[in-house]
Amino acid sequence: MLLKMPQKLLKTAHYIELGSYQHWPVLIPHRIRLYTYEQIPLFLKENPYITDGYRAHLPSKLCLKSIFMLSNETVNIWSHLLGFLLFFSLGVNDLSSVLPASGANREDYVIYAIGLFCFQVCMLCSVGYHMFSCHRSEKTCRRWLALDYAGISVGILGCYVPGIFYAFYCNAFWRQAYLLTVLSLILAVFSAQVHPRYLSNDWKLVRMTIFCCVAGVGVIPACHWVWLNGGFTSDVVQLFLPRVIVMYLIAGSAFLFYVTKIPERYFPGHVNFLGASHQLWHILVVGMFYWWHQTAVYIMRFRHSQPCPGQSSGSSSS
Ligand SMILES: [Zn+2]
Repeated sequence: MLLKMPQKLLKTAHYIELGSYQHWPVLIPHRIRLYTYEQIPLFLKENPYITDGYRAHLPSKLCLKSIFMLSNETVNIWSHLLGFLLFFSLGVNDLSSVLPASGANREDYVIYAIGLFCFQVCMLCSVGYHMFSCHRSEKTCRRWLALDYAGISVGILGCYVPGIFYAFYCNAFWRQAYLLTVLSLILAVFSAQVHPRYLSNDWKLVRMTIFCCVAGVGVIPACHWVWLNGGFTSDVVQLFLPRVIVMYLIAGSAFLFYVTKIPERYFPGHVNFLGASHQLWHILVVGMFYWWHQTAVYIMRFRHSQPCPGQSSGSSSS
């Protein structure tokens, strides 16, 4: 008890010294200025090849305001804000004209709504992180970063749901088995993200491995689908496999830019505002989601025009 008292007093004194303010720096800036890599707080130091154009130490209001000025996050914010608007418009267009014109049933509407909702959530989480990564509180930045990672998982889920649903349209057992597996996998990733060390630099490799596994595991249902449809020579496989391959090529190149930090690695300081690897990753993610959405429209139309074997209409069977 005697030992605890001075500690308590010390703690109170510490707060008084900081003006009862828990976040450092105590002074709140009233205008936005940009910092170099050397000037930013340690928790923002992730990419030494981006040498300038950092926002930092800002309160929420100025973080929001900063999206209208040029910084090294401007392209990151706007690419996914426009991506959100794109998938929102696609959602409105799908539900009001594309699906009714294709003779879609209730299941199609649900699958499209889930897929596009996941893409929009992914976009918004990313916008939120890049907007508030300049917040003066490290805790707030970390929370937004966690949400950004969660958003990527949701985006991957948005790719899997329509993909599996239409690939196994005529096989209800495998369709449900794969959908449940993917859902469990995404839930497992969410649980891992709750771990306090998940966002630490020591776990960078673990984070990369988890995302590669979650995205790469899609190869299993893809191979199974090829086998169920009679191999590479079958008409359906030849029609849709190139689309799946293009999807993985876009995803692979996006991930490559993200991990290798190319091109800024070779031109440090020259692509601070435009052309950095994270911006390329953002644009490729939007392109990948759009490509997959168009593939889902294509395969849905195919399924409604070609009934499942042994059925007179294009509804699912076991
Ligand atoms: Zn990002």
